[in-house]
Amino acid sequence: AKKDKREPIQIFHAEMDEGLNFRRTMRQGLEEALSGNQLDLHLQPVVDARNGTLTSAEALLRWTHPLLGPISPAKLIALAEESGQIVAVDDWVLERALQHIKQLGDVPVAINISPVQFRRRDFARKIVDRLEAHGVSPGQLRLEITEGVLVTHTRAAGRAIAELREAGIKIALDDFGTGYSSLSYLKDFGFDFLKIDRGFIRALDDGRQGAELLRAIVDLGHSLSMRVIAEGVETAEQAGAVQLFGCDYIQGYFTGRPMPIDQFQDWQANAAV
Ligand code: C2E
Ligand code: CA
Ligand code: CA
Ligand code: CA
Repeated sequence: AKKDKREPIQIFHAEMDEGLNFRRTMRQGLEEALSGNQLDLHLQPVVDARNGTLTSAEALLRWTHPLLGPISPAKLIALAEESGQIVAVDDWVLERALQHIKQLGDVPVAINISPVQFRRRDFARKIVDRLEAHGVSPGQLRLEITEGVLVTHTRAAGRAIAELREAGIKIALDDFGTGYSSLSYLKDFGFDFLKIDRGFIRALDDGRQGAELLRAIVDLGHSLSMRVIAEGVETAEQAGAVQLFGCDYIQGYFTGRPMPIDQFQDWQANAAV
C-alpha cells in the first residue's frame, strides 16, 4: 500500500497547479488588458419600437486576449468577481462609457452593473462624482441591474437605487423574467425601464402562449410606470409582434449588433437618412 502513496499525491498537485496557474495567468492577463488596449466597449442601439429611431445605446464589454482571442464578457466578469478585479473592470467601463457619451452627444448610454458593486457603500456617490468630473449630465448615463441584486443586497440596493435616481440617473431592471421574479421587487424599487429577456422574444416563435406572456409582461411594466425594452429581437416578425404588444423599445440583432463606437456612429448616420 505504501508504494502507491506518492503517485496520487503528485497527480493531485500537478492538477491543482495547472488550475492555479491558469487562473493566475488569466488574472495577470486581465491586469494587462486593463492597462493595455485589449478591452473595448461596444455599443448596441436601442430604438423606438414604433418608428425605429435611435433612443439610447447599451455598452457591452469586449476583451480580445492576444493569444486566446475574444473572451466573452460573462466569463470576464465571473473571473474578475472571483479575483477581486471587478471594481477595476467596472471603473474602466464607467470611464470609457463617459468618454463615449461625450463623443456621441445626445445618446444616453446604459452600462451593466455587477451585483458586487452594491456591497460598496459609496457606490452611488462615486458614479455621481465621475459624472460631475466629466461634465456629463446624469440623464445621459443609465444603469442596468439584474434581479439577483435585489435579492442578495436588498437594503443596500434599495438605498443605492434611490440615491442614483434622485441624482437623475435612470435605472433598468435587466433580464426580466429569468431570475427570482418576485413581483414585489418591481413595485418596491421603482425602475425606469424593464428589459424583457430575450427568452420571451424567442418564445414568440412558438405561437400563442409566448405572445400572451409577452403581452402580460408589457402591461405589467406599464402599470408600474416603466418603459419596456424588448431584448434579443432578431427578426422582422419578432419586431412586429413586440411593437404590436406595446413594447416601447427594441434592442437586438434585427436593428443593430453591438459595435465599436466608430461603426456605431456610421450606423447612426445611415439610420438617420
Ligand atoms: P446583457 O446585459 O443581457 O446583454 C445583452 C446580451 O445579449 C449581450 O451579450 C448582447 O451582445 C446580446 N444580444 C443583443 N442582441 C441580441 C440578439 O438579437 N440575439 C442574441 N442572441 N443576442 C443578442 P454579451 O455582449 O455577450 O454580454 C453578455 C452579458 O455579459 C451581458 O448580458 C451582461 O450581463 C454582461 N456584461 C457585458 N458587458 C458588461 C459590463 O461592462 N459590465 C458588467 N458588469 N457586465 C457586462
Ligand atoms: Ca444589460
Ligand atoms: Ca439583458
Ligand atoms: Ca444577461
